[in-house]
Amino acid sequence: MPKHLRLWVAIALLPTYCFSQSKAVESLQAFGVEYGVEISIQREDFDTEAAGYRVIGKAINEEGLESYAKLWLSEFRRYPIDVFKKAKVKKVILCTGLQVNEQIRAAVPAFDLDAMYYDTDLGAKNPSYQRSVVHHEFFHMLDYRSGQMRKDPDWAKLNPSGFKYGDGGSKMRTSGVGNLTKEIPGFITRYGTSAIEEDKAELFAHLMIDPEFMAERVAADPFLLAKSELLRKRLEALGLSELLESKATILNR
Ligand SMILES: [Zn+2]
Repeated sequence: MPKHLRLWVAIALLPTYCFSQSKAVESLQAFGVEYGVEISIQREDFDTEAAGYRVIGKAINEEGLESYAKLWLSEFRRYPIDVFKKAKVKKVILCTGLQVNEQIRAAVPAFDLDAMYYDTDLGAKNPSYQRSVVHHEFFHMLDYRSGQMRKDPDWAKLNPSGFKYGDGGSKMRTSGVGNLTKEIPGFITRYGTSAIEEDKAELFAHLMIDPEFMAERVAADPFLLAKSELLRKRLEALGLSELLESKATILNR
């Protein structure tokens, strides 16, 4: 095709291309450009072999994507635009039917792939669960990059004496373990007791989405106060302290 004709074909097709994109897809792509991260909307099933684990998932469905995109974007827009660079995340994959080693997951921080996977359908009936997942899983990425995700003596010593973590998040999958509780000193969910990395991610996620509950808990529990202070210091070092201060008042003094 001659060069000038190619140009005309491209121009003629442009409106079709633009208008065939859904609002959600457009907003996600615009976010990706602004935040310097590739947002990949999974259009077919996949099976990805990573370092010692396997991520599988299915194509998104348009309806689920529409509502999930709104929620996901409203949570991620609370972060500064260089946050993906800080977390070394190059790609976010939105899909359904997400699993790691055949275990169902709402999201996966794939450290070795510099990628995050989010399931757009799982927990769709419980938006506050989906919101907490957005931050919980992203925190794992930040924590991993800091080199202290699983080995973190400064954090461990803030626990009540004699406390021991469980066998890891993947071993604690019963329903209700993620519910907020006032019954466990130093913890806000039972899931947080499963492993040190889950403890940190749970605390961060709920400081982000449940500031009132957290304010009450932190005021009443010196273990949680100390953990929240350490978390705030770490976020400050990453240039992310405003995250908590903008919405939660507890750490803002
Ligand atoms: Zn986790």
